[in-house]
Amino acid sequence: MDKNQIWDSVLSRLSEKISRMEFHTWFKKVRLKEISGDAALISCPTEMNKNWLETKYKGILLTNIRAVVPAVERLFFQVDLALADSQPSNPAIFDGKKEAAHKPQKVRNEPRVRLAEGVESRIIQSKFTLGNYVVGEANRLAHAACSAVSERGAKAKQYNPLFIYGGVGLGKTHLLQGTANEILRKDPDAVVVYTTSERFTNEIVKAIRDRKTDAFRKKYRRVDALIIDDVQFFEGKEQTQNELFNTFNDLFDFGKQIIFSADRPPSELTGISDRLKSRMGWGLTVDVQLPGYETRLAIIQKKATDMQLVLGPDVEEFIAANVRRSLRELESILKKVGAEWDLSSTPPTVQSVGKIFRKLNPTDSIASTDAAGRGLAKSPEDIITFVAEYFQVPATEILGTSRKQTFVYPRQICWLLCKDVLRMSYEAIGAAFGGKNHTTIMHGLKKIKALVSQPNDPTKGHLSAIRHDLGLK
Ligand code: ADP
Ligand code: MG
Repeated sequence: MDKNQIWDSVLSRLSEKISRMEFHTWFKKVRLKEISGDAALISCPTEMNKNWLETKYKGILLTNIRAVVPAVERLFFQVDLALADSQPSNPAIFDGKKEAAHKPQKVRNEPRVRLAEGVESRIIQSKFTLGNYVVGEANRLAHAACSAVSERGAKAKQYNPLFIYGGVGLGKTHLLQGTANEILRKDPDAVVVYTTSERFTNEIVKAIRDRKTDAFRKKYRRVDALIIDDVQFFEGKEQTQNELFNTFNDLFDFGKQIIFSADRPPSELTGISDRLKSRMGWGLTVDVQLPGYETRLAIIQKKATDMQLVLGPDVEEFIAANVRRSLRELESILKKVGAEWDLSSTPPTVQSVGKIFRKLNPTDSIASTDAAGRGLAKSPEDIITFVAEYFQVPATEILGTSRKQTFVYPRQICWLLCKDVLRMSYEAIGAAFGGKNHTTIMHGLKKIKALVSQPNDPTKGHLSAIRHDLGLK
């Protein structure tokens, strides 16, 4: 095989493994320059293209080159500007694959629940697992409770029923379905039913109409775990509530697990009978909230990988900073980013993603990534307020000139935070603290940094506690 043939066969393997837009964006003008011994040299049309291949695709590239030429162990990259106007040696790999590679991947939606005469929950999606749920402060308890429940041990008994509540798009359905999948993974014979309040209601209405309520009851009474999503929609549906109440009692008495979700805690549900509400609150009630910046970033990275999108860190951070309502928003942004990339063949930038956000929520202000990394600290005043509170000293003393160590120490901590978090210069910090000389600030920072690096000094602990207060993790 000559090097063009080798490269064509590497490309056609790659085209199966990465998304069409990535393939077009990063590989169309790339060539195999030569193979010599265990080394392959790859030529790229631009510096940026070279960087992307080196940082993001090196592994997959090596694997696929080795599949064709097993001797290759090392990859080298170079820029060859002449490639900018080049055409692929085999354009068909890029054209022909269009349709195939573009086909939306359907998530397999296996009927997981096996029941002879079928409560079949076809809506448990395998893409939601407890393992791919990113855990942060905002959802730690809920996730832990779901994991415990999926173990079906003694703890699960205390958590029965488990009630998870929170606003739209904060991950309730993901957790519920993830728990269903986990129970089934551990025990494939378990009878797990995941349903929504609407489906449950429709099923009851149909059973009543067809005079099959007995069959309905029998079926539900045989489940090992009953999971009902969004129970706030049972509002005003008395007959359904009665059926659920009876089913609940039977399952509960036999120690079967029940999980509910809603947009608010049981006590605040309206239009639901008191006896049902009270039972919903018998076990453990936990909430999910919008995760903080770091967790959002981790979720974006995970979702982007799932969607076969390789985004630059600046773009990921920008999205994390601007998703403020729900994680569903995050997903729809990523989908739009993917679609635009696909259509335009240009990789997304902070600017292009900013436009998508503006279209989606025209009245929102767009946060730069920088501001997001600052948590609650937007100005030196914010930092002084938090530090004064933390050390229980008056803010005026922090800003003052007293040489007492009780004030000098918090003052210098403030300077460090101004430098690290707000990225202020020594001059700017001096100016904000009563017109001090920049050398004073430098000197103070040196002292604090020396303390931070000492193993038994509390300064490091103080700093991380204050950073935590400021929402900086
Ligand atoms: P809800 O049911 O609360 O309205 P969903 O469970 O439908 O919210 O979540 C919306 C989207 O956000 C889903 O795509 C879900 O996978 C994703 N999501 C929510 N929380 C997380 C998390 N902690 N880790 C990963 N993905 C999450
Ligand atoms: Mg939901």
